[in-house]
Amino acid sequence: SEPTARPRRVLLKLSGEVFGGGQIGLDPDVVSRIAGEIAEAVTDGVQVAIVVGGGNFFRGAELSQRGMDRARADYMGMLGTVMNCLALQDFLEKAGVSTRVQTAITMGQVAEPYIPLRAIRHLEKGRAVIFGAGAGMPYFSTDTVSIQRALETHCDEVLVGKNGVDGVYTADPKVDPTATKLDHLTFDEALQRDLRVLDATAFSLCRDNALPMRVFGMNERGNVTRALRGEKIGTVVTA
Ligand code: UDP
Repeated sequence: SEPTARPRRVLLKLSGEVFGGGQIGLDPDVVSRIAGEIAEAVTDGVQVAIVVGGGNFFRGAELSQRGMDRARADYMGMLGTVMNCLALQDFLEKAGVSTRVQTAITMGQVAEPYIPLRAIRHLEKGRAVIFGAGAGMPYFSTDTVSIQRALETHCDEVLVGKNGVDGVYTADPKVDPTATKLDHLTFDEALQRDLRVLDATAFSLCRDNALPMRVFGMNERGNVTRALRGEKIGTVVTA
């Protein structure tokens, strides 16, 4: 018999800024909209894992500049990501999607611990899996974790949703008006040109493991669903 193709499995990275709607804290309307868009793709049979950042609450580097111990501030940052995870879980469930949150810092009342094989099983059953608390380690970023989780759960692609930009540009379009959007580039080019879509550790982890990445804009309604379904929007970055 013909081997049946495995369903598409992707990891969606959302920065905390997206959830905050440009402010500190959480904008439930924004989270609800994103959840609705994710639900459409899940209904289509796309297996969706999500890593959410926490920049809308705390960034460890910023708190440490203001006198806090870096590691402790980073733990605060990681705990912030969990609040975003719970908000997304809530709106996904309301949109009819069964979800599980798995955190890298154990907190049994709130979420499952990160267990990769179990996460894969959830995905196979059509549950959205949301990974929280980053790597559970200070000095790491949710960017880097998103690549690691995508690799360990065998995702086909990492999708990076951005606010304000609709892909990767030759320079920062907010600073340089001559900047142009790229349809495709390599990880080496992104690193050489210092295009800070994700941090350099995330880029090099992606490159070393030949995991394709798509960067797309979230401002246009429907784009999250489009990206999850595999439409060629934004910019693709490959090895
Ligand atoms: N963080 C960390 N280790 C991790 C992931 C996150 O220490 O593995 C902390 C770090 O302080 C970071 C904060 O959590 O500033 C929020 O995560 P991030 O800045 O990646 O969120 P985003 O910018 O995507 O909103």
